[in-house]
Amino acid sequence: MLLIISTDDFNHLTAAYPTTVINELQIQISNRIKACFNEKTILGVFSESRFIAYLPNTEQLEERDRILQLQALNDSLSRVYLIEQYKLNCSIRIGASFYPQHGDNIEVLIDKAFSVMALAKNQRKSDMSIYTPDIDHQLSSDLLITSAMHNALRNKEFHMVFQPQYDIKHARFSSAEALIRWNSADLKRSVSPYEFIPVAEASNLIIEIGYYVIDAVARQIYEWQHKGLSLERVSINISPKQLQQQDFQKKLTGCLERYNVTPQLIELEITETSLLEDPEAGIQKLEQLKSAGFGIAIDDFGTGYSSMQYLTSIPFDKLKVDRVFVTDLANNPKNQAIITMLARMAQTLNFTLLAEGAETETEACLLQDIGCHMIQGYYYAKPVTAEQVEGFIAKTVNSDQIQKSPLNSELSQARVSH
Ligand code: C2E
Ligand code: MG
Ligand code: MG
Repeated sequence: MLLIISTDDFNHLTAAYPTTVINELQIQISNRIKACFNEKTILGVFSESRFIAYLPNTEQLEERDRILQLQALNDSLSRVYLIEQYKLNCSIRIGASFYPQHGDNIEVLIDKAFSVMALAKNQRKSDMSIYTPDIDHQLSSDLLITSAMHNALRNKEFHMVFQPQYDIKHARFSSAEALIRWNSADLKRSVSPYEFIPVAEASNLIIEIGYYVIDAVARQIYEWQHKGLSLERVSINISPKQLQQQDFQKKLTGCLERYNVTPQLIELEITETSLLEDPEAGIQKLEQLKSAGFGIAIDDFGTGYSSMQYLTSIPFDKLKVDRVFVTDLANNPKNQAIITMLARMAQTLNFTLLAEGAETETEACLLQDIGCHMIQGYYYAKPVTAEQVEGFIAKTVNSDQIQKSPLNSELSQARVSH
């Protein structure tokens, strides 16, 4: 069995901690790896953030035992590291390949271990390590999706839906997020963006898909305007790779101009990962986009690095708190505290706070009570077709149903009692 063990956020750690701490971290990681395996294991340093381990004579092990071994390694490496006065958490990824199933020489085995690791990372399956026993199947399924996506672009299989966003203060749906949908003829099923967007990101197809989305949204806004309907803004998800394109702003603006759509009508949703590689260049790009009139929203906030420093340096208008903080909010005082803190920050730093994924009245009322400005979730509206959006634009929400003062409700008592 060959393992590549990688510290995902190594660059962040080296930026944040002194060299002595990083050196000690590497020693502790290698000690933990050694403790998980027997003395026959050969352990090497692949690069400063990666170890390579070769475990001979594992052919006889059952698949289940191999997985258990990797699970134990993952658990051990994911525990906190106490170094000097610091408590460090590392996000670890492990890629594994097996001799002889996956290759009969070391280069091939290393290659396979890396691809499974990259796969897990692209699919953002989990923060921690991912080990896929069914590597080849998964890789070939990504290849199938990639080839089906090429055909989908050619055959116009993608379309857009829109999820209305509810503005609490004005009790109306003021904006909507454009979300892509795909019914694949090749795969004979509808494929979720959670499944195909990461694959598209890995293969650069995301750029072409991204421009398809921009064009489709601009055309839709044009049609709505001709019907006399207008949303304040429509938001579009922009993948990190697309934002990094040199000519992104030029192409984006060119596309909008074709449909007479001004930047003021568009909000660009980016994630913190967009700024990981080259934060300075990324921030500069966003500043230019913002001064051209585009709205900037930070999507899925709280799931990435969520550095508070970013919040003061990124020019953004809207912060979208991820659904993980919203689900079952009434029973989660810690998440309530986090959203409350963000609501206070929103006031001081002057941004709009939107909560994603509210599915129940309890969640919606609590979010209102806490002071979120906007809510996007199934409770108010699921993603709908362009025609269905028209019903929401005119609609102010039935006040009995949604605007009841949460302060007087049982719900807020539930909150206070925590
Ligand atoms: P996202 O940008 O965070 O979009 C929100 C996702 O949460 C959408 O899933 C939406 O349908 C879902 N959602 C909204 N409210 C609720 C709720 O109350 N409960 C639950 N369970 N889910 C809710 P969707 O449309 O499947 O998109 C998934 C992700 O795929 C998006 O997450 C976004 O990261 C990506 N994506 C979707 N469309 C595009 C696109 O056009 N371009 C790019 N680059 N990425 C896209
Ligand atoms: Mg989004
Ligand atoms: Mg989101």
